[in-house]
Amino acid sequence: ATPMALMVGTGRGAQLGILIKGPEVLENTRRVDTVVLDKTGTVTTGRMALVRTVAADGEDETEVLRLAGALESSSEHPVARAIAAGAREQGALPEPEDFANTAGLGVRGTVAGRTVLVGRPALLEEAGQHLPEELSTAMKEAHGEGRTAVAVGWDGRARGVLVVSDTVKPTSAEAVRAFRDLGLTPVLLTGDNESAARAVADEVGIERVVAEVLPRDKVDEVRRLQAEGRTVAMVGDGVNDAAALAQADLGLSMGTGTDAAIEAGDLTLVRGDLRAAADAVRLSRRTLATIK
Ligand code: ADP
Ligand code: MG
Repeated sequence: ATPMALMVGTGRGAQLGILIKGPEVLENTRRVDTVVLDKTGTVTTGRMALVRTVAADGEDETEVLRLAGALESSSEHPVARAIAAGAREQGALPEPEDFANTAGLGVRGTVAGRTVLVGRPALLEEAGQHLPEELSTAMKEAHGEGRTAVAVGWDGRARGVLVVSDTVKPTSAEAVRAFRDLGLTPVLLTGDNESAARAVADEVGIERVVAEVLPRDKVDEVRRLQAEGRTVAMVGDGVNDAAALAQADLGLSMGTGTDAAIEAGDLTLVRGDLRAAADAVRLSRRTLATIK
């Protein structure tokens, strides 16, 4: 490929809403045969909404949502935004203190003098807070609906469950079809629960799903696919996707995503439209074919 032709390809990319870090990226784009997709914020809008609050026996729903919402006000995670917004609807929220985030698990901090945890049940269990049966049931019900659910606990006990919903982007199914037409295998990779992941995968037409993956393990999934001899593109938007984006043969970040993801990627989909990822592959093949 001559540098001139690659530059032309780069310019055309900009018109399609694709920012390419350097002309050499097109060569990797052309070789891709597998596309790993993050779920939240990549295939879905990531604009989650609170569906319901479930309190453990003897606990108060309003209080569960108030303390969780106050703590989540300090987090940028889509789940956190939904919970904070839902909580603000029922009234003003106290200021959290000592906020700490465990990527892919949840958050911890002090709210109104209480030590509050919000996140995956594993986060609460690590702190010795086991979910009583009514909360486990509430989690399972949410999963059955293909929804995301997190647990809330404070002062040593699990106290509630919050259920949030996300929406698949209207362009995602078309993008997955375009990947297949280009001969690419799509894989959905997420930290969320298996059923929520499956529901999204079914809606957009993805067969291969890897769920309940911790952020630090996302990069291992990419390595595993590479070890199978695949040339892997990873598409993501979150801080938790940055290492996987860097490990992939081609990292595509959502322009609507976090700075960490954008920095880690080779290519940015400016409008956060997944179809542009297929456009990028098509463009690279065409550009490089012209030269040969
Ligand atoms: P994804 O791979 O879909 O982008 P993440 O790895 O960011 O998901 O998160 C995985 C799971 O960790 C979420 O579905 C949620 O259960 C939990 N989680 C992460 N951050 C938070 C938070 N701020 N509050 C509550 N739960 C969280
Ligand atoms: Mg994401």
